[in-house]
Amino acid sequence: MLWYKFSGKASKCHHFISKSYFFSVGFEVVINLPPFWKRFLMNSILLVSLIFLAISFLVSSALKGKFTRYAQIPLAKGLSGKEIAEKMLRRNGIYDVQVISVNGYLSDHYDPFKKTVNLSPDVFNGRSIASAAVAAHECGHAVQHATAYSWLILRSRLIPFVQFSSNIVQWVLLAGILMINIFPGLLLAGIILFALTTIFSVVTLPVEYDASNRALDWLETDNVTLPQEHDKAKDALKWAALTYVVAALASIATLLQYILIFSNSRDRR
Ligand SMILES: [Zn+2]
Repeated sequence: MLWYKFSGKASKCHHFISKSYFFSVGFEVVINLPPFWKRFLMNSILLVSLIFLAISFLVSSALKGKFTRYAQIPLAKGLSGKEIAEKMLRRNGIYDVQVISVNGYLSDHYDPFKKTVNLSPDVFNGRSIASAAVAAHECGHAVQHATAYSWLILRSRLIPFVQFSSNIVQWVLLAGILMINIFPGLLLAGIILFALTTIFSVVTLPVEYDASNRALDWLETDNVTLPQEHDKAKDALKWAALTYVVAALASIATLLQYILIFSNSRDRR
C-alpha cells in the first residue's frame, strides 16, 4: 500500500491485476497464426487469464471480508490509527513525516515524495485491529524510506522506467502481435517493456512483506496489540500481501505467454 507516481498521476501500488492485460489478451486471439497454435494459444491464454482473474477476485473479496470483520473489533488499548502511526514513527526516530487523513476506502499509503503517511478516514479515526494494522503497515514504508531499505530503493529506481513502459506497453504489444510476420522486433520490444512491469511487481513483494513485518514487530514489542489482537492484525496483513503475490504471478504468466507467442512465430520463420 505504498503509492508511487504512475502515468502522471498518483496511483496505488496496491493494484490488482490490470484490466488492460485482459483486453490485450482478447486482441491476441485474432492474431494470424497456424490453426493449431492459434487454438492452443487462445485456449491457454484465456484459461490462464480466467484463472488469475478468479484468484484475484477471490483474494480481494477475502481481503475485504477480513478488513470489514477486523474493523469491527475494537483495540483493547483504544488508540486511533493516527495515534498509532505517530507513535510508531517517533519510536523509530522519524520526526519529519506527517500523518494525514485522505479520502477513500483502502486508500492508505505512504507518500515518499511528500513524506506523509496518508490514512483513509476509517483508519485515521478508527480504533480497531484493522486500523491499527494498516496504520502500522504504512509507517513500515516510512521506516523503510528512512533506513534506505534496499528493496525500496530498487523499487523507487524502477518507477521512471515503469512509468514510461506503462504508457505505451499495451500498444507496442498489440502492434507487435499484429505485425509479427513483418516486424518481429516490435513484439520483442513490447516483451522487454512488459518485463519491466513484471520485475516491478516482483520487487514490490519484499517491500510489502517487510513493511508488514516491521508493523507487526512494533505492534507486539510496544504492546499496542494484545496477543489475540496481534494474530488478527497478522491475518489482515497476510491477506493484503497476498493480493500483491497474485498480481506478480499474473504478470509473470502474461509475460511468459508473450514470450511463447514470440518464440512460436520465430519457429515458423
Ligand atoms: Zn504497502
